[in-house]
Order: sequence, then structure tokens, then C-alpha cells
Amino acid sequence: MSIIDKMEDEFTEFKSSTTVFDVDLLEFRENSPGIKPQKRFPFSEQLDAPAPVPAQSNDENFPQPPSIKKKQFIFPSDFNLDIAPISGESILDLHLPIQPVEVEKLNPWTLLDDSEGLKKLSVSLLSQGRLDEALKCRKHSETLKEIERIKEIKSMAAEREDYDTAIQYRNILIQLEKELSSPDEIENWIKDKKELTLKELEEKVTVSYGSEAGREFAEKFVYPEVKTSLDIENIKEIFLKAQFYCEIKKILSNQSAAFLSQSQLVLQKISEELKRAVIILNKLKPSITTLDKDEDLKTYLKGLSEVYQIYERLHFAVEIVGTLKSLEFYSKDIPLSWSECGNLFNYDIPKLRLSKLSDKFCTVCLFPISQSVMLSGSNYHSACANFWVNRISTDPPRFRTFL
Ligand SMILES: [Zn+2]
Repeated sequence: MSIIDKMEDEFTEFKSSTTVFDVDLLEFRENSPGIKPQKRFPFSEQLDAPAPVPAQSNDENFPQPPSIKKKQFIFPSDFNLDIAPISGESILDLHLPIQPVEVEKLNPWTLLDDSEGLKKLSVSLLSQGRLDEALKCRKHSETLKEIERIKEIKSMAAEREDYDTAIQYRNILIQLEKELSSPDEIENWIKDKKELTLKELEEKVTVSYGSEAGREFAEKFVYPEVKTSLDIENIKEIFLKAQFYCEIKKILSNQSAAFLSQSQLVLQKISEELKRAVIILNKLKPSITTLDKDEDLKTYLKGLSEVYQIYERLHFAVEIVGTLKSLEFYSKDIPLSWSECGNLFNYDIPKLRLSKLSDKFCTVCLFPISQSVMLSGSNYHSACANFWVNRISTDPPRFRTFL
């Protein structure tokens, strides 16, 4: 039991015992004058304490005080309150150190259906940088709660003899139970392991690029408070971006000027391409019903979306590093043209997401690549390589993404 819990128990006991009156002399004086007091302040008998010599009052009408029951409040012996109390702040509001989760004492079999225990374990996993495990752990905890809820609804349905509904809920329960992690997995969560944390990344940035870069990193990448598993998913994304930031920093060191001039050229060409597309598509619009199934138009629109996605990837990288202000102009211009194209021909593209990092980064857009095209020893997305060769230059870029 924590100190706070002990103290709360004490308070509850205090409150629930026989009525205890505040000693308020002003109130006594206002009390029914005229009644002769039987006992005088400071009620030495009730307090069971040696009576101090009372300051005798000559006033015969001094009212009788309410009975006082002695109640002792005992601080736990190991409680050392060495913080000066702040006025207006309850002792319960004081920030005592959070007890670390004692993972070595946890048992996977008891944790299997201990929603609260898993919630705590997930916090501990997060602090060790084990984001994937923390997410699974938190999801397990949430699924347990959901199972509990569905079980209740199911039994209510069974009580009113609504067996069809009860069977439906039983099927949901079977599905939910499949989502739970196994005891083996839980056993792994309990093991003491360590992965790279956001704080350690920040330290690396500070060591490599100085304290200002470290501060910038710390401001840019902040984890949210964890209320649900969605917050842990968000944390995973933030950590991935933070790692990407470190990679870009590494790539750009000593060649940021080359990257800047190259990116300006790429963005300018993308902008021109999309502006031309708006003119072409506007001309085609009157015959849109007949062009609906036109293969050439479909290919053109697909190519156009690939061009726009080069911008999205490049913009993502530039935004993460956040220091390349001179590219800002294109951040308004290009999306505007693209949305005009979209309005004309209703072309949707998937939302850009950084789902994982690889050790290869595209020479044109800087985004990590899983399937790389190699040209003159550099890595490219096929669309980026195509765009470079067909719209910019047949010479390879001078900028390099490998070190
Ligand atoms: Zn690319």
C-alpha cells in the first residue's frame, strides 16, 4: 500500500468517526447566552490530557462547548515530509515520486486477465523504449475491459431470454478473445529489456549537432499523455519521425546547400507540371463523360498523381528538418494546383505515411525506400528517377543520400 493510500484511509476513518467539531471560540460566544456552562474551555476532561491551568473567565454566561472526541492522525513511520507545505495545497496534491512498476514480481498467468496490471506494465514498457510491446500490452488490457462489457450485455440479453442477441455477443466474445496476447508474449513483456528511447535520441542529437539542435529536437518531438492505445500508436509515429529526423540531419550535414538548390529545382518542375495539367484537364472537361474510360487519360492522371506524391514525400522530409524556409513558396502553390486537378477529375491518392525506416533514402525526395531503383550508384523511387530523367536532367543529381 502506498503512503498516499494509507493517508487516504486515515482521512476516511477520521471523517466517518463520531462528529468532530472545529473549535471556534467566536462561535461559542454567540451560542445561547444565558445557559450556565457545566464545563469550561479548554475541555480538559474530554481530551484525556493533563489540564493546563485554564484562563478563568469571570463570565458566568460562557457557553458550553460541544463535546470533542480525540482522534489522532498518525503519519506512517517511514513517511518523511521534507517539502515545505505550500499554502492552499493539500498534502495529497504534493507530488511524491512515482513508484516504479516492479516488473520482476509480475506473473504472466495472473496478468493474463489483469487489465489494471497490464496498463501499468505498458507504462513501464514505454519507459524502456519498447513501443511495440507497450502497444500490444495496452491493447490486451483494453480488450479485457471490452470482454467484461460484452459479457455483461450478453448476460442481460440471456436474462430477458433474447437468445439471438446473446449468441451474437457470444460470437463477438470469441473474436475478442482471439485478439488477446498469449502468456508467452506476456512473459516476454515482463523480461527486463531496453530499446532506444526518445531521450537517448535527443542526447545523440545534442552530442552530434550541438545543444541548440538538441533543444529543437526536444521541442519538435513530444510524446502525448497516454490515455488509450491510440496514444501509443501516436507515440510510435512520433518516434519514427524522430529517427527519420536524425537520418536526414546526418545526410544533410555538409551538403545541405546542394540539397536545397536541387529541391528548389525539383519543386519548381513539379509546380510547372501540375499547372500545365490544370490547363489540359480544363480543356478536356467538357468531354469528361466520354473520356471516363479513356486509357490514355487514366495513365496521364496516374502519372500526375505520382508527380504530386514526389512533392508530398519531399515536403514531409523538409518539414521534419524544418529549417528549409526557402522552399515554402511551393508548399502552397503545388497543393493548390493538385486540388484543382482533383476537382476536375476526382483523383484520390492514399495519405502519405511514414510506416517504417529503411537504410536507403531517395536521392530526389529523401524519403526512405523499401524498393529502390539504382541509378549511377544512387537510390531512387522509380517515380522520382523517372521524373528526374524526363523533366530535370539526364545527368544524375550531385546530392547523395548515402554517406
Ligand atoms: Zn523519391
